[in-house]
Amino acid sequence: MATAAGPDPASVASSQPVRVVLRVRPFLPSEASSAATPCVRRLGSHTSGEVTVQIKDQYTSRNECYKLDSFFGQETRVCQIFDQEVSAVIPGIFDGTNATVFAYGATGSGKTYTMQGTEDLPGLIPLAVSTVLALCTGTWCSVEISYYEVYMERCYDLLEPKAREIMALDDKDGNMKLKGLAWVPVRSMEEFHEIYSIGVQRRKVAHTGLNDVSSRSHALLTIRVSTDVVKGKLSLIDLAGNEDNRRTCNEGIRLQESAKINQSLFALSNVISALNMKATRIPYRESKLTRILQDSLGGNSHAVMIACLNPMEYQEAVHTVSLAARSRHIVNYMSSASKQGTPKDKVDMEAKLRVWLESKGKEKSTQRMDGFLSPNASKTPLSMSHMKKSASVRVPGRVKAMDQDGSKIKKVLFDSSARIPAENLPRVGTQDEVNTTKKVVPPSLTPIKDDKAGSSLRKALSPISSNMAPQKHPIVDDGNCSFMLEPKTPMGSYHILEKVPGATPLDKFNALGSSLKVCITAILVFMYQKNTLV
Ligand code: ADP
Ligand code: MG
Repeated sequence: MATAAGPDPASVASSQPVRVVLRVRPFLPSEASSAATPCVRRLGSHTSGEVTVQIKDQYTSRNECYKLDSFFGQETRVCQIFDQEVSAVIPGIFDGTNATVFAYGATGSGKTYTMQGTEDLPGLIPLAVSTVLALCTGTWCSVEISYYEVYMERCYDLLEPKAREIMALDDKDGNMKLKGLAWVPVRSMEEFHEIYSIGVQRRKVAHTGLNDVSSRSHALLTIRVSTDVVKGKLSLIDLAGNEDNRRTCNEGIRLQESAKINQSLFALSNVISALNMKATRIPYRESKLTRILQDSLGGNSHAVMIACLNPMEYQEAVHTVSLAARSRHIVNYMSSASKQGTPKDKVDMEAKLRVWLESKGKEKSTQRMDGFLSPNASKTPLSMSHMKKSASVRVPGRVKAMDQDGSKIKKVLFDSSARIPAENLPRVGTQDEVNTTKKVVPPSLTPIKDDKAGSSLRKALSPISSNMAPQKHPIVDDGNCSFMLEPKTPMGSYHILEKVPGATPLDKFNALGSSLKVCITAILVFMYQKNTLV
């Protein structure tokens, strides 16, 4: 077995229930350019063997740092990952200790390449099978494999013709068993390749916007070692990619698949984080995948999660690593340049949102939006004094804003170079408008004076990710970003407004509870930035 520079493999296997390591794939020929730098790099190593990595957006200087168990850069070959992370857990399965290795990451980040490999460069799966077979030589041990996929929360046997569905049932100990799953004996690598390649072809893949052959299921290859009784097993899992559906342009069945994929990956991340934080309750029952893996995750078993990253995708990398290493985020660093830029960025986003909401509602509605967005709302709820102070405000937008008279400003705002002096921005809160508004809006809808609402909105609008703040509240996860919600449901004035003639969308928006507003606003801003909202 080759050795690689890095921590002693024996200590690697026992450091914590689930090791989390990073793997950055090389640039593909289509991505390579002289200016390309990977969005992730190793910052330093610790005596414990852990490393600090930094994920950095080369355009905005935003960055996140994580402490992880190991880092494999673009030049690393899969056999080095095997030597350093996987080979150490294999002897354990001969002693009855189960182990699991996952490749986790977004679509196109190199998971299948890492697990399966190519004909010339075998991945972790063939490397593991050949090591197990080698260790069995001259012993009474026999090796069998199973290969199945979890697709839309159902299991299909990939070693059976037509990938037959198999039933997942709880046994008397509460562990899930796959009734009827085929276990095929393997005596040589030739036999293995023959069996495995047929199974690989049965796996559900589809073309998506991010990968020509995107895997739509989690594929689990399990190697089981037995004498007269089963000893232990090693599960090698090529997870389906977590997906940002704005980028994949998924629709219909692809969108449903994606929702299930993201849900089960979130459940897996919950289990890993609970195990690594030594929680008393581990939420195995949140998904089929985690229920199946219950006997190979936690307890005395070993697990390694390989978080695969696309070197071009900062946001995706942050999402992957923050879910893979929930308890390991150390600090956000911000360059002084980006710190200075932050207030302006916030104003920009508020302005974008304001313009968009205006285009959807009526002109008078802007004043309450102003009351809601203004940091000075408690003092001057109807003014835009905070915006006037800045010399100019950048308002990229395809929509048209209103001028002082309420007529349309005759400018197409989506020209990114369009800078509108603050004086020309829609002025709101004239006495006439206030009077008009008072006639139609119930008293409960006066501009929000509670500065708490403004500050939580500003938090949501902040371009700085705060994804790893301690989680006091439940997380709503759309698979792409997480928003913190207060655990209460705002009710009331929205329903009253449904019946008020002339109530605009913005009136209804303002009538929502502050948490919901913050959440909706953050989603709108996010969609607006991704240009999926017009
Ligand atoms: P995923 O399974 O995460 O969707 P893939 O494994 O299919 O991603 O990888 C996406 C593309 O990147 C493929 O074309 C693959 O060949 C290539 N790739 C991934 N990792 C490497 C690597 N280490 N070296 C060379 N090419 C790679
Ligand atoms: Mg894949």
